Amino acid sequence: MTQSKGKKPLIVMKFGGTSVGNPERIKGVGEIVADHAERAEVVVVVSAMGGVTDTLIRAANQAARGDREHWKSVRQDLARKHREVADQLLTAAEQAEVLPQLAEQLSNFENLCSGFSLVREVTPRAMDTLSSLVEVMSATLVAAVLRSVGQAAEAVDATELIVTDDNFGSAAPIFDETNPKTKQRLAAVRKKGAIPVVTGFRGATREGLCTTLGRGGSDYSGTIVGGALEADEVWIWTDVDGVMTADPRLVPNSRIIPEISYREAIELSFFGAKVLHPKTIQPVMKKKIPVWIKNSFNPSCPGTKIVPLPTDRTPGVKAITSVSSANLVTISGRDTLSFPRLATRVFNGLHLEDVSTLMVTQSSADNVLCFALHDADLPRVRARLEKTFELEMLHEYVGTLEVMPKIAIIVAVGENMKGTPGIAGRAFSALGKKGINIIAIAQGSSELSISFAVKSSDVKEAVKAIHDEFQL
Ligand code: ADP
Ligand code: ASP
Ligand code: MG
Repeated sequence: MTQSKGKKPLIVMKFGGTSVGNPERIKGVGEIVADHAERAEVVVVVSAMGGVTDTLIRAANQAARGDREHWKSVRQDLARKHREVADQLLTAAEQAEVLPQLAEQLSNFENLCSGFSLVREVTPRAMDTLSSLVEVMSATLVAAVLRSVGQAAEAVDATELIVTDDNFGSAAPIFDETNPKTKQRLAAVRKKGAIPVVTGFRGATREGLCTTLGRGGSDYSGTIVGGALEADEVWIWTDVDGVMTADPRLVPNSRIIPEISYREAIELSFFGAKVLHPKTIQPVMKKKIPVWIKNSFNPSCPGTKIVPLPTDRTPGVKAITSVSSANLVTISGRDTLSFPRLATRVFNGLHLEDVSTLMVTQSSADNVLCFALHDADLPRVRARLEKTFELEMLHEYVGTLEVMPKIAIIVAVGENMKGTPGIAGRAFSALGKKGINIIAIAQGSSELSISFAVKSSDVKEAVKAIHDEFQL
């Protein structure tokens, strides 16, 4: 750990949903923080208790459908879940302080749901306020638990720190404003010798409207805060020992990777490795702050260190990841629309819908463009492209959009694949031996990753086959 002389290093620790999932887990968070607070200055960022964000979003959608009962039972469950933590872990004085704050969030939840049921609508803006109020509840509780074990701590709402654009549901931070604001607001807490406990997932526009950073966005909050404070390290505490060679739910014998590079981590998370939100590395890149992935269920395990550049030069594949619910979209410009013109208009449509592709291939002799999309993006893209090419499709200058659903994209990642011959061949034959058909393939010139599209039903076997082939 880098540390200037005589000064404690500054570590931003983010705790995920499972790490704050019940009273026992939150007690564990208190122990981890107290343990490190002796050697380092700690700033905490927390997610909501595991699973509650999904529950809230479902309740809001139900309310918008006119259901006036569902949210009432959800309110009770939320109250019970958070109350249980207070009952088991807080002193009477802390309970008296915290319970009214939790009650305030619960009544915000109820009022919002009631409003949705009246107008039969939930806007992205209102959804952000609703879906992230559970982060306020968990930060309130975690700060109180720390105080109960004798550690000065203060809950801080990230709407006071992180300034974002108004892209509700997936807002982008405005770093020039976020960095000084975060530094200043947290300095007030740190000066008192208290540990700030910041709400993950949420931020606010310049006008103060609550936004969220996208699902799983608390990892991103951790590095936004780490970058702003120029922390020595950011530690992301989760429920696995680190970044593994494959999703342990798909490949039970996957192995922990001690060190990966920023680029490898970005690639893995973009292609579905849930352990990290895809934007997590961005705020720490320039400052070259290392990010650790650690297991709050097994704190003595060192975890994975994510570093600016790889130090291990062993050639080959580092990890396999996959996106299991994608579509392959094919569009043909026929003889009349050249490939560059077809591609320009297609990608402009994707840009206007703010959609990223997972894979792109071209067959220029036939002017055929093929790309893969996440399931959730397909309806918007389909509508946009059918409108863009309405006339051409009518006159059959452009072929209709062909969509192949239930596709998985399997991605082998590794900086040291570059210049190593035979990787694609070994992956092909590993899939071939299992009788798995490859529908499309893509690899960029950086050779950082190679992607294969297969049927969704083959995803588990395909990931395992490649994992075994490279003896990861
Ligand atoms: P948290 O609630 O702590 O943010 P997440 O559920 O978002 O945790 O992320 C951790 C999960 O990511 C793990 O339980 C694991 O199932 C999944 N995962 C997917 N791919 C990988 C991978 N390559 N390495 C580690 N975990 C992975
Ligand atoms: N609670 C939020 C979610 O479930 C943020 C996070 O967990 O990172 O998406
Ligand atoms: Mg997560």
